[in-house]
Amino acid sequence: MTSNLTIAERLRRSGVSRRHFLTFCGKLMVVAPAGLAITNYISPQAVAATIGRARRPSVIWLHMQDCTGCTETLLRTSEPDLATLLFDVISLDYHETVMAASGTDAEAALKDAMTQNDGKYVLVVEGSIPTKENGAYLKIAGRNGIDMLKEVADHSAAVISMGSCSSWGGIPSSNINPTGATGVDSIVKNKPVVNIPGCPPNPYVLLATVLEYAAAGKLPQLDSLGRPKFAFDKTIHDHCPRRAHFDAGQFAAQFGDSGHRQGWCLYKLGCKGPITHAPCSTRNFNEVVDCWPIGIGAPCVGCTEKDIAFTVPIFTTADIKRPLPPDFYPPVFAEHKAISPVATGVAGLVGGALLGAGFLASRKMNDGATKDEPKE
Ligand code: SF4
Repeated sequence: MTSNLTIAERLRRSGVSRRHFLTFCGKLMVVAPAGLAITNYISPQAVAATIGRARRPSVIWLHMQDCTGCTETLLRTSEPDLATLLFDVISLDYHETVMAASGTDAEAALKDAMTQNDGKYVLVVEGSIPTKENGAYLKIAGRNGIDMLKEVADHSAAVISMGSCSSWGGIPSSNINPTGATGVDSIVKNKPVVNIPGCPPNPYVLLATVLEYAAAGKLPQLDSLGRPKFAFDKTIHDHCPRRAHFDAGQFAAQFGDSGHRQGWCLYKLGCKGPITHAPCSTRNFNEVVDCWPIGIGAPCVGCTEKDIAFTVPIFTTADIKRPLPPDFYPPVFAEHKAISPVATGVAGLVGGALLGAGFLASRKMNDGATKDEPKE
């Protein structure tokens, strides 16, 4: 349970080196370069000082209709390993997958966690909530997911939907949605709900959000889909390592062709990167460079976008206004001719004339300003 030790004190006691903690803070800065109070500094040392002073926030993690992929992504990070962070940076007081207790002991653990941190804990939900047949498709300890979610959310300070399923239904809600799967924010109306979609989502976005709450006492700014702006304000396309090929009109036409093998753009294979807001292209997964769909040659499926993921077929090309560079760009392979001395001279004359005119105009304005000044 939550102790009075600060995060820095907990890490010291657990033997987590300062270097590892600074590396972790540096990663938070990559995920959230702007828009968060805790990362709004110029050095990981400053971020570490801010986070280190905070007390560990209590977190209760509920599983609904899910594959546990969101928990898996959380457990596959390092520097320091996330298991350490889960216990020393946050106080993970209830999590059905990683906790040792089961049965009635687990039920008691949930009650204890809620009672001891009433109104203060952050509730993280993984998985969609089935609503058809009065929620009969999901029962935990004899209660359906809707009732369980409502009760635990009622006593929380804020709710975080971890992954596309809890954000708006995800894969279980795909047509024909047999269980009536839906997201947390369509059920919880009396608490702030932050959506961190992704299949899986980026674990550092979750940690940055929870630590912002713990250290700065507030949740991050959200976009119209309830996603933290610090992580979802740009499209994958904006920072995609294949972007140069997109701009050059170099596209893989099918898997395994020469363009695909050379790392060309995957737009024509259905990549939804141009219309998908997510930090995947700047913050890869599992601490491995290029460990993300586009990095390994698979088109982005748009899993962080409500109306794209698991709705628009994978190989359907994204409907974007400007799939190719605009016509007024010079052709990429055009020959560049030398600039003639005459053209250089004309450009110099025009530039000089403009500069001279600007100088004379500013003199006149200054003169006018002096004349209009009131006399003492
Ligand atoms: Fe990258 Fe996809 Fe954009 Fe191509 S279309 S540059 S692969 S995000």
